[in-house]
Amino acid sequence: MSTAAPSATKPIVDEPVPLPQRWGAAELARLTEMVKQPSLFYWKGPQTTALLGEFRKHYPLKYAFPCSSGTASLHIAVATLKLRPGDEVITAPITDMGSVIGILYQQGVPVFADLDPHSYNLDPADVRRKITAKTRAIMAVHLAGNAADLTALSAIAREHNLILIEDCAQSWGAKHRGTPVGLVGDFGCYSLNDFKHIACGDGGIVATNSEHYGPGLSKWGDKSYDRVAGGREVEELAPNYRISEPQAAVAAAQLTKLNDIVSRRHHIGELLTSRLAGAPGVIPPATAKGDYHSYWFYMVRLELACYSVPRAELCTALNAEGVAVGAGYIPRPVYAYPVFKNHNFFGGAWPVRDFGLTKMDYRQVKCPVAEAILDDCLVFKITEAMSDAYVEKVARAVTTVTKRLAK
Ligand SMILES: *Cc1c(COP(=O)(O)O)cnc(C)c1O
Repeated sequence: MSTAAPSATKPIVDEPVPLPQRWGAAELARLTEMVKQPSLFYWKGPQTTALLGEFRKHYPLKYAFPCSSGTASLHIAVATLKLRPGDEVITAPITDMGSVIGILYQQGVPVFADLDPHSYNLDPADVRRKITAKTRAIMAVHLAGNAADLTALSAIAREHNLILIEDCAQSWGAKHRGTPVGLVGDFGCYSLNDFKHIACGDGGIVATNSEHYGPGLSKWGDKSYDRVAGGREVEELAPNYRISEPQAAVAAAQLTKLNDIVSRRHHIGELLTSRLAGAPGVIPPATAKGDYHSYWFYMVRLELACYSVPRAELCTALNAEGVAVGAGYIPRPVYAYPVFKNHNFFGGAWPVRDFGLTKMDYRQVKCPVAEAILDDCLVFKITEAMSDAYVEKVARAVTTVTKRLAK
């Protein structure tokens, strides 16, 4: 049968997505203390200090700089490397623009490597193929809460003397072989934007154990001002990416909830995977043995040849059954965005290319696996407020609809 019409008038998922109350007494208590302070400046601010304390309970990294966004955290990490114009950073084509913005502003060249078809993370073999004499770093993106293969990537980085930056924006609480993401590579970069596991409106943290790069984090996020020595002999061109006390207050309180949020989302993701075993053509996400997925969202791939309708119609049928799911994730790989296709990075120009420091032509870049993932994936919304019963309804709806639309 090939109809996308719902099987009954009442949808299988017969209630709206349960939304958690994300902010409450813990945030209010910190904000109440904060308004009594004489200053809301981040440097040695009590809220920022508390944020660092809470952060280090999960990520015990020696140097940590709370900043204004995840994008800022990644930019700061890249900036500390002092790239020469045209130096290359290998990263993933399915990610947020925040991963590549800092590379481009530092006159580096993002080089896109293809992905593993089922973890949706960097394929170490393709990373290896993309290494050139100009490669300085690998930026691994832990997509959706699933750790990239950090064992393989850090081995490649060591072998080729490259820095490994971890983009943990989507993967608070995730682990690679028992180690929290952000602790394996040279830098862990985190986002606190409104849509992540934990949020303070906007914010981020960049952290490292590196004695070489660590002391520079705060200068690279604060106009190259030296808050420690108090000096203003500015030596580098650095942006202002400071956090402020209101954001830090909320973020510090949010971190106390991280374990509960993450363990609930992990449970929901694993429950979905076990219940979707009988849904024809649905391939759940793959987590490596020993890894811990924190399910910022739940992404599956579809064997589209199994169905009598295209993906959009299958998705419409799922929506009609009350399932909060979308056909696809980002519209195309990052390298295919107009800004890349047109090399339109600085007023229509791209100096490193125009001056012959790179031959990169984003119109020629192709990552076939990443493109296939975007063409056949579905992204399910997950919230920590979903009960098991709610998740069972979602799984039943997916099983019912995929069976109905299977050839
Ligand atoms: C959200 C996100 C960022 C950027 O974080 P912001 O706080 O929005 O700047 C970077 N990388 C990934 C993978 C993200 O999901």
